[in-house]
Amino acid sequence: MLKINFGKLKFLRSIKIRIFLIVFIVGIIPSTITRYAIVRNYEQRAVALRTSDVQTQLQILANHLISYRYLQDTSSEVIDAELKMLSNLYDGRVLIINNNLKVIKDTYGISEGKTIISEEVIRCLKGTNTSNYDSDNGYIEMTIPITEITDVDTAADSPVESSIARGVMLTSVSTDYITTTMEILNRKAMVVEALVVLVIFIVSILASYVIIRPFEKITDALRKVKEGYTSDPISVQDCLETEHIGDAFNEVLGRMKVLDDSRQEFVSNVSHELKTPITSIKVLADSLRGQEDLPIELYREFMEDIADEIDREDKIINDLLALIKMDRTSSDLNIDQVDINVLVELIMKRLRPIAFKKNVELVYESIRPVVAAVDEVKITLVITNLVENAIKYNKEFGWVKVTLDADHQFFTVEVADSGIGIPAESIEHIYERFYRVDKSHSREIEGTGLGLAITRSAILMHRGSIKVVSEEGEGTTFTVKIPLTYISVT
Ligand code: ADP
Repeated sequence: MLKINFGKLKFLRSIKIRIFLIVFIVGIIPSTITRYAIVRNYEQRAVALRTSDVQTQLQILANHLISYRYLQDTSSEVIDAELKMLSNLYDGRVLIINNNLKVIKDTYGISEGKTIISEEVIRCLKGTNTSNYDSDNGYIEMTIPITEITDVDTAADSPVESSIARGVMLTSVSTDYITTTMEILNRKAMVVEALVVLVIFIVSILASYVIIRPFEKITDALRKVKEGYTSDPISVQDCLETEHIGDAFNEVLGRMKVLDDSRQEFVSNVSHELKTPITSIKVLADSLRGQEDLPIELYREFMEDIADEIDREDKIINDLLALIKMDRTSSDLNIDQVDINVLVELIMKRLRPIAFKKNVELVYESIRPVVAAVDEVKITLVITNLVENAIKYNKEFGWVKVTLDADHQFFTVEVADSGIGIPAESIEHIYERFYRVDKSHSREIEGTGLGLAITRSAILMHRGSIKVVSEEGEGTTFTVKIPLTYISVT
């Protein structure tokens, strides 16, 4: 795309100045062209008129020259008078040249007896009128032949005349009056043009102000929001464009508000979650401190409780750190070709003891071998979280079934359990940070409410998807779908 570097002409970047210049230039050019066209048109017409006038007069004179045999004898007073009148009338000079190219009469009396060899005269002797306008020196030069009718063929159906050029009249007439009229015309047109320019100048200033006004209003409204006077949506309905800018800005403002709200909620949740174990520790420690001579067993029991709370705090902090890592861009992914079957088997092996403790059966079914380009650590976290939840939120003697399958584009990991299920109204919240379905019964089952948030972020970083189907009291099935090849979005 063409990018203009305005450099020193920085003021041209202002739309107001641009609108002014465009309106001004577009307004001025036609008026200047019109003035020029009017003056030129007048000049052409005036020259054409004068040429035809003079040529008519010369034609009449040429006929008189023949009838008075002036070419043979230049002593005719009638012709001299006519010549004088013509040159006075048109402020010009007439030269009569015979067919030997000799000047036999010059109204200025300078060139008589001289021979004139000019292209126009020779062409004219062959019967062609010529005329030439010299605008620089202010005259029209023209030639017309002096012809004599020599023969009339009356035998033909229509009489045919034949004529012969006996000489040439070379005339130059002044065009001073045309120039003078043009100057007057030009001056008047310039006055009109100046008035037009003035009007255009005022109109362009007004136009630039009127067009820019809504944009100034919107800048003003944006400034108020920026400076924090208000966070209300802005509205400048003066024109469609500003309305669109306002709508787009309000949308961004809305999104920022949502972000800000969720950040505030997150911070308050984090503080609350981090405070809970500390409060418990404080209570336990205080009760130990307040009583003397307590049996050592009670000490041990309280200390174990304190250690449990510290573990919980540690887990929350670790989960928070994991979540923050997920919030970074996908460029932090460490993509490698990973054998997903091996990976799932390894996770199952690690979790088997926990399942065993809860009397939950762990089943793994691999439909086909799968190798995919993924971040091994993050996908391990995803599958571990889902299987761990399936064990945690299960019933005694329940089961967890993990199925791995793939097509040519994606691989899917399905984690199904026969557990307590998730109530329908909670389904949409389970991926929220710190969300736990039933906080009271969740107390017995350890957790931070961050696991699924971390899981979902990791899946999204891989451009995958997660779905859940659950029936309260029956069980839950999570299905994760991840592309086999990683597509980075730059
Ligand atoms: P938590 O640390 O509490 O397990 P998660 O983010 O992993 O946090 O899960 C959020 C909530 O979703 C859990 O507290 C639990 O109530 C519910 N949940 C997750 N997985 C299951 C499941 N397989 N069966 C029933 N409820 C589940």
